[in-house]
Amino acid sequence: MFYSRIKALEGINGKEAVQIDYHGQSPADVFDADVFGDKELRERLPPSTYKTFKDIVRDGGHLEPTIADQVASAMKDWAISRGATHFTHWFQPLTNLTAEKHDSFIQVQGESYDRKLVLNFSGKQLIKGEPDASSFPNGGIRSTSEARGYTAWDMTSPSFITHGKSGSTLCIPTAFASWTGEALDTKTPLLRSNEAVSKAAVRLLRLLGVDDVTHVHSNLGVEQEFFVIDRSFYNARPDLRFAGRSVLGAQPAKGQQMEDHYFGKLEPRILSFMQDAEWRLWRLGVPSTTRHNEVAPSQYELAPIYEGVSVACDHNMLMMEVLKETARDHDFAALFHEKPFAGVNGSGKHNNWSLGTNTGINLMEPGDNPQQNLIFLTFTAAVVRTVSLHGDLLRASIATPGNEHRLGANEAPPAIISVFMGAHLEEIIENLVKENGKNWTETKPHMCLGVSALPKLPRDASDRNRTSPFAFTGNKFEFRAVGSSQTCARPITYLNAAMADSIHHIADRVDQVRKEDPKLDRQAAVWKVTIETFREHKRAIFGGNGYSQEWREEAEKRGLWHLRTLPEALQQLTSEKNAKLFAASEIFNSAELAAQQATLYEYYSKSIQIESDVLYDMVSSAVLPTALEFRSNIVKNIDGHSKTQSGYASKVSDLVTNLLVALEEQEKVNEEAKRLHGNEHEQAVFFRSSVCDAMEATRSASDALERVIDDKLWPYPKYSEMLFLK
Ligand code: ADP
Ligand code: MG
Repeated sequence: MFYSRIKALEGINGKEAVQIDYHGQSPADVFDADVFGDKELRERLPPSTYKTFKDIVRDGGHLEPTIADQVASAMKDWAISRGATHFTHWFQPLTNLTAEKHDSFIQVQGESYDRKLVLNFSGKQLIKGEPDASSFPNGGIRSTSEARGYTAWDMTSPSFITHGKSGSTLCIPTAFASWTGEALDTKTPLLRSNEAVSKAAVRLLRLLGVDDVTHVHSNLGVEQEFFVIDRSFYNARPDLRFAGRSVLGAQPAKGQQMEDHYFGKLEPRILSFMQDAEWRLWRLGVPSTTRHNEVAPSQYELAPIYEGVSVACDHNMLMMEVLKETARDHDFAALFHEKPFAGVNGSGKHNNWSLGTNTGINLMEPGDNPQQNLIFLTFTAAVVRTVSLHGDLLRASIATPGNEHRLGANEAPPAIISVFMGAHLEEIIENLVKENGKNWTETKPHMCLGVSALPKLPRDASDRNRTSPFAFTGNKFEFRAVGSSQTCARPITYLNAAMADSIHHIADRVDQVRKEDPKLDRQAAVWKVTIETFREHKRAIFGGNGYSQEWREEAEKRGLWHLRTLPEALQQLTSEKNAKLFAASEIFNSAELAAQQATLYEYYSKSIQIESDVLYDMVSSAVLPTALEFRSNIVKNIDGHSKTQSGYASKVSDLVTNLLVALEEQEKVNEEAKRLHGNEHEQAVFFRSSVCDAMEATRSASDALERVIDDKLWPYPKYSEMLFLK
């Protein structure tokens, strides 16, 4: 047996939960302790500066250099008092990870014997950074302009401190763009999409007679799923280290068929790890609140309370980082890949999303009064139109290498994006469309067009449909098809962009309807257009089993988008419709959109290339030699006169031959993939089909051998060990 597997197995028994001593503190004692938040701003800035700064954060506008200097100085003093020696512009390039380059506060003044050290941090340093950014994915944008990039402070997301064992760092959330202003990150488009959806929603709210709203923000609550395994297993598996998923491994006798892991008792080492992570998250201001075992063995979930999308996205990135770090301290590895283990559930990241006004209305909340119900139904119509027309964008927004194993497979949201409304609401919508809102508009025209006569809308629609990729859950929509490893910024950006389009469309139609019939008041026109929108787009509403074959056929009949694979989905990104949509909402210009697409193709192809290479290496350098050794042991030890025994030997021989054949084919396919360099789409298609098929064949040959080879010879930790021993 390989040394690392033996060591991992031997070490596991002695491991105890790591005890974290929090000295009887309460979450209230530590929450935001590492955040330069409102309390710090208020205490450390002159009142007028504090007010100006807060106004700019809320309403936008120019930050005067003198104000920036004061904020920077306060931030520095606070950070230094908390042990920080360095600061960093913290940003999110197109890698699904965060990036940071640290600079210290130190400056040397004077020379020779007269020099002295001062700690300094200016408004200029706070606002803008110029990292040498030539090594980040840029989809070709920066080769055409200058190779420089810059980071710009995102004032809407508070700065925070991270602690190393021997010092701390002030992290300033920033956006990352090219010198010519093109987005090179996920934050910039997200902020733009927030603006776009806000503008559209405020416009529609005016038509609904709501005049006091000046801003609408999108909210996001992220349910993060992940796997946790013992670190020694992780260390002994090159595939987990390089690709984040196991590319080989036979199925254990027990997987998740007993359904005994979901909501099961948290095992002591895991509980301690989760608790430790939560204390760290609370210090960082991440309102982590829910923890539980998920469906697959060794799978877990952590979820915070929802926040504005920009902060929620930052906090989700922090959550993944904190979980990874904390896992290491507890001798675990946290895995965020969508499908780290074949045969058991994969991981997702439910994005609970809603729109809220600065006056405190949740636009996705059915209300107690007709006004609120009209608002709710109109914005719901916009959501339904979004899914109906822009299902391609929603599908593209969740296209990640790992998510390809979930979407359309028989455990997770299907690749067809439909919307689940719940039986009661679905019926109401059906009736509205059938009756053309007639009963209401004609009998009670004075009462807000009779919306008051609507049947009571369900307030806490309990959602029992777990197969829907996009579900209404009472006062929010839950985008369930998002992958566990990806930043939420992309799905939310595309969703907001598509929503801005739908909301503007409804508003445009209202203007048109009123032009045609000037007697119609604003709300009456909105009501009419809301029903019309439901009529045109109710095909997107589906409450049945999203995994079934019948739904696939039905969805096709309804003309819904069904983009089965990542390359098909990404291809749609730059379609005329989508280029227009992103340009109109000022989220991506055509160069940025093309760059986004190129980066996503590249990310996919490279990821599969790495998986394929690591599988090849593991099999050819460890599985194959082990198999040959085992075969020769058999040949040496069997009774050659027994037909049964020589039959067994030749069966093993056949398995080895299968493996060799598969390896040879995989090598050929890998070579071919390299030759396709240049056409990103074609290359991605080839990886998705030929390379994945070849990997599958190699894996199945290897897994067949794992089942017969002498257990003490097998080189890598097995599924039965990784998923069940802690
Ligand atoms: P479940 O989806 O399992 O029913 P919850 O309803 O508790 O779980 O919420 C899941 C996530 O949705 C949490 O992060 C929660 O804060 C968030 N959430 C609740 N209300 C809203 C809302 N109006 N907008 C966005 N997210 C919300
Ligand atoms: Mg949920």
